[in-house]
Amino acid sequence: MKLTGEMLIGARAVRGSQGVLRAMNPATGADLEPAFGGGSAADVDAACLLAEVAFDAYRAVSLESRARFLEAIAQGIVDLGEVLVERVMAESGLPRGRVEGERGRTVGQLRLFASLAREGRWLSATVDRAQPDRKPAPRADLRAQKIPLGPVAVFGASNFPLAFSVAGGDTASALAAGCTVVAKSHPSHLGTSELVGRVIQKAVADCRLPEGVFSLVLGEGNSIGEALVRHPAIQAVGFTGSRRGGNALVAIAASRDVPIPVYAEMSSINPVFLLPAALAQRAETIAHGLIDSVTLGTGQFCTKPGVVIGIAGADFDRFRAAAKANVEAKAATTMLNSGIHRAYCQGASDLGRDSGVEALSTGGVSAEGSYAGQPMLFATTARHFMESSKLLEEVFGPAGLLIECSNTKELIAVAKHLNGQLTATLHMANQDIELAQELLPLLERKSGRILINGFPTGVEVGYAMVHGGPSPSTSDSRVTSVGAMSIERFLRPVCYQDFPTELLPEALQDSNPLHLWRLIEGKLQQQ
Ligand code: NAP
Repeated sequence: MKLTGEMLIGARAVRGSQGVLRAMNPATGADLEPAFGGGSAADVDAACLLAEVAFDAYRAVSLESRARFLEAIAQGIVDLGEVLVERVMAESGLPRGRVEGERGRTVGQLRLFASLAREGRWLSATVDRAQPDRKPAPRADLRAQKIPLGPVAVFGASNFPLAFSVAGGDTASALAAGCTVVAKSHPSHLGTSELVGRVIQKAVADCRLPEGVFSLVLGEGNSIGEALVRHPAIQAVGFTGSRRGGNALVAIAASRDVPIPVYAEMSSINPVFLLPAALAQRAETIAHGLIDSVTLGTGQFCTKPGVVIGIAGADFDRFRAAAKANVEAKAATTMLNSGIHRAYCQGASDLGRDSGVEALSTGGVSAEGSYAGQPMLFATTARHFMESSKLLEEVFGPAGLLIECSNTKELIAVAKHLNGQLTATLHMANQDIELAQELLPLLERKSGRILINGFPTGVEVGYAMVHGGPSPSTSDSRVTSVGAMSIERFLRPVCYQDFPTELLPEALQDSNPLHLWRLIEGKLQQQ
């Protein structure tokens, strides 16, 4: 498939007329062909109007057709083969193994949502039959199911060019829910976005769906994204990126005549607590695993452990020495783009200049190119950490901060001081149970996923995964952006009172033509 540098608006390919954008290879600094034409507010309007026109027809197609559509997208991505892998590598600097792994995750995710769409449990079909003879007042016939919200805007993430971009988790869950999608390319992977966008566009045509089910827009600066979120047809937004970008979109969405939800996944420092007995037993092993996790993918994961909290003493000293040595042994590797590299260097330099923070060690400089991120390890005291709000901010890249507490009381105070997080981790042994019991209620209130004796990078896409958490890790702690439950973001319940069978949605008819598991008179049953 040859790239053209066009947007995809419904069934058409449209060359934007507002400036020229190019992706860049962060490993070499070289611009990549082709040049992309930047879109305008009129292009956004055209895409959103098509999405609105297509919405009722798309949500009415059978669950089986929706599932086949998602499977067609998955197969189309596989069929792109090397062309896609090479373009992702060129645009992101990510190594082949990571890109192939991410492609597998993306395809698996689409297939998971296909099976979810087919099975229909997310409709939450619920039936309370009429009780005309109930005293003192009769009960009406009440039936409820979930329906899709409407057209959804999806912002591709820089750090997951496939799994959280044009056909990533947000798009897959929105399409499975019955929403139409207008995606915005991340400026770093314009070519990857076009390749994947064309696969979706073809799947729409092959599955004989209305053309407005999917569009892909792009443009210079923030104006395209702003126009998208402001557009009256858009009913929800999926976003992964910076805290500043996410908060800007939340503010725009809240200021609309009809405000809409923005599901923004933004920033997290993913605290790791080292409890005393665990540290005594395996300080060096934990240090090894931790630094692998901090530096994995050049630290460009939202679940990268950014702060590590332990209690001062000989075991913490052993841990620190091992972590320091592990960082020194790590190479610097290419970051995703020049902006992320610049932000990382700035964040690390701010830490280095903080008089309460000690720079412990730095990884090797590589000859990979100008945008290589050097692994770094810093240390501070619990007291300084709690006095400096800047240290609560994410440094996106391969840096970690060790926080030394003088006792367990201070360790608990640090836990209380933390902001909302995607993850929190405890390293513990049996003798640490009491301290763990004290920490867990605090950490439940702060984070979306709690791990014991593991590392938070590597987010499984399954039924029980929660990739979310209180602000600022996301803009809405009630939902997850990864896994089967993420479909809930794009649904809302509707109750149908005293409907004749012929007007009821199939999911709520007495004969249960979809063979769904339904809540009937408060009991889950398949009848
Ligand atoms: P970003 O700057 O927030 O951009 C993400 C997407 O949102 C892009 O498509 C961007 O497009 C759009 N956007 C940003 N601000 C906007 C605004 N005010 N109005 C409308 N659209 C807006 O994120 P990024 O480029 O991926 O990375 C920048 C920084 O974000 C990183 O250095 C890192 O600190 C953080 N980040 C965090 C995570 C995480 O998971 N925690 C992941 C990725 C990045 P335009 O620029 O074209 O408008």
